[in-house]
This record gives sequence, structure tokens and C-alpha cells, in this order.
Amino acid sequence: MSKFNPISSMQIVTKCPMCDFKYDKNNIKVIDSKDGVITLYLNCQKCKGSMMMVIMAGAMGITSISMISDFMEDDLDKIEKSCVEYDDVLEMHKFLENK
Ligand SMILES: [Zn+2]
Repeated sequence: MSKFNPISSMQIVTKCPMCDFKYDKNNIKVIDSKDGVITLYLNCQKCKGSMMMVIMAGAMGITSISMISDFMEDDLDKIEKSCVEYDDVLEMHKFLENK
């Protein structure tokens, strides 16, 4: 099996949830990638909306969590220095599973 490629897995979400504009690969950035968990930042060219997406490749297949984010690309540096955002995403996932 070839190396897990987050961009080729983007059929999960390829369109902006706000305006339905199709994402361009150039607007998808990999923020973090480790242990089969990939965090992506997507930026819509049309409505300028941004979104965070976490993709987990596990035994159950690929799970993805996406959420609208209101931070700008310039803020990515801050996120990289903080693990809090990351934990929040996992907590949200647990919350959704329990629903
Ligand atoms: Zn959009």
C-alpha cells in the first residue's frame, strides 16, 4: 500500500460548505500529519471562508471531521505552537459519537 496521501483523500470534502465552490488543491494546506492523523486547513477562493479538517486513517477506515474556522492563514503559526486546538477537535469527535 502506498503512503497515505491526504490530498488524494479529499473526496471526503472537496467543496466549500458555505458556497459550494470546489476547492483547489493549492488552497489545501497540511498543518500537521502524524500517526495517521492529518490536520488540514482549507481556504475557499470564492467566499474566503476557511475550514479546519482532521482526517484519521484507522482500522475503521478514514474518518474526517471538518469545521468552519474563522482564523486567517496568518494564524497558522500560532496553531502549530499549540496542541489545544488539536485536543479540542478530538473532544468534539467524542462528543459527536456520543450523540
Ligand atoms: Zn466558499
